[in-house]
Amino acid sequence: MSAMLELEDFRYSYGGVHAVKGISLQINEGEIVTLIGANGAGKSTTMRTICGLTEPQGVQGKIVYKGKEIQKLSGHKITAMGLSHVIEGRHIFSKLTVDENLEMGAYLRKDTKNIKADKEEMYRLFPRLLERKTSLGSNLSGGEQQMLAIARAMMNHPKMILLDEPSLGLAPIIVTEVFKAIKRLNEQEGITIFFVEQNSKIALNSAQRGYVMQTGEIVISGSCTDLSNNEAVRKAYLGE
Ligand code: ATP
Repeated sequence: MSAMLELEDFRYSYGGVHAVKGISLQINEGEIVTLIGANGAGKSTTMRTICGLTEPQGVQGKIVYKGKEIQKLSGHKITAMGLSHVIEGRHIFSKLTVDENLEMGAYLRKDTKNIKADKEEMYRLFPRLLERKTSLGSNLSGGEQQMLAIARAMMNHPKMILLDEPSLGLAPIIVTEVFKAIKRLNEQEGITIFFVEQNSKIALNSAQRGYVMQTGEIVISGSCTDLSNNEAVRKAYLGE
């Protein structure tokens, strides 16, 4: 299997605070992988650093995307390499319609002639967005905003998408819908997915493999089936 993204002894410090203390992981092309763990474990720091959104001076170790080291690159450059992200808070444009938000997602592209067809494809993958095509971003529900944020990231033709807490603030039924959409992106569009989740149950049901992070370190990893059957994981993260 070919690695799409690798972290090699990755560390991150905010001044004297060692948020991530040397983790290594690999995500292969076509996989859905999750990173779970309690509050403050270092998940968001890891995700944000991969996307180029933390201060480079805090980084040690290597982050390799498609064979290239990216740990010192800007977020803009990383996105242009086909690694898109949907980060907490969603940041959709509230004064633009759903359709206009999707167009904004294509801002890095040079092949503007296919944008219309790509929007159609997103409406096929996210039927809810088609119903809301002319609604303003500010009028969408939390779940619709999350779907729009994911669809907008897709407009940049990424090979891989990183998601930070896709379930955050959403009602359970909407969470299921969002994760179904994430699976469709993986199965139908071949997108490699890496996501951080505090909702371990939905994470382990949705991904193929997982890593468990605790106070800056990876303590267990494996297939989601194995993790779901692991007694320590069940006790600490699945509330059993
Ligand atoms: P959460 O789900 O609560 O976001 P997390 O697993 O994503 O948790 P991080 O947000 O990455 O964890 O935080 C890891 C550690 O780094 C925590 O101890 C946190 O207090 C610390 N930390 C995070 N951001 C900063 C910052 N900007 N400055 C200083 N310390 C920080």
